[in-house]
Amino acid sequence: MTLVDTYLKANVSSADQFTYKIFQQNALQYMINTEMKNHMLYKQDCKGDLKFDTEAQVKWGLAWQERFQCNICGFKSAFHKLYEEVESLKRGRRAATVNIGAQVGLIHTPISNKNFSEILNAANIISPSSSGLQKCANKVSKVVEKVNKDDMENIRKNLANDNKTLGLSNEKLVRVESDARNFPGRAHAAVLMVNNKYSNSVIKLSVQLGAAITPGSLVAKQLKQRHKIDIRNAQRKRLISSKLRRANSRRRKYKLHASIHYPLSVYYKKGLADSGNEDCDNICD
Ligand SMILES: [Zn+2]
Repeated sequence: MTLVDTYLKANVSSADQFTYKIFQQNALQYMINTEMKNHMLYKQDCKGDLKFDTEAQVKWGLAWQERFQCNICGFKSAFHKLYEEVESLKRGRRAATVNIGAQVGLIHTPISNKNFSEILNAANIISPSSSGLQKCANKVSKVVEKVNKDDMENIRKNLANDNKTLGLSNEKLVRVESDARNFPGRAHAAVLMVNNKYSNSVIKLSVQLGAAITPGSLVAKQLKQRHKIDIRNAQRKRLISSKLRRANSRRRKYKLHASIHYPLSVYYKKGLADSGNEDCDNICD
């Protein structure tokens, strides 16, 4: 019996109530206010407490549909969707904005859905199913491709300058981590991010997907803060002093590498580390 097996036995009844869940605040407030009144109408002087009915909870990715039950009189509330749905013309159960938003965030990072679930579990948060995560990822991937292509069309002329600002020699060198399944989406997101910076890229995509960031919220303020830092970093990269620092660091690393691998002393030659440079043959031999 391993450690994880010992964790299958609950110490308390309704153990799920001691984990964390994501609820939209407005929906939760409405549920509490409405159902407390309904409880009073159901049994006027009941002194019981309303608790989440964890047996009846319905998981929808990171979001939940919940109902309350009274621990004394047996009152059971109506079900409440404690999330917002994306606007969609398609029939059937609509995605929760939080699930789409999480994928918009993930596609900008090298974090896979599996890693995302691991982070959630470590934070004592119940993670979505892998198939559900993948479904939302596919949806986001499709849209990011379209948004990026449109965006590229608009800014093609300025692209070379933008990349120069960011220290990239051309757009093909945008760094993308490989996650085989979502690779095309990640590639497009990476380009969109280089051209628009993280915050604008996220806002653009979330609007397109019907899962917009709430204007005027702390989230919007945090994105603005992040944008300021991105701009400052991009400007810093252009400074001569930064360029010198990078060149020095490159030279130092190369010297170290050479001292280990080559018997004779060799020096870093400009362009040596660039891929596809055939001039390096004579030095590497
Ligand atoms: Zn009651």
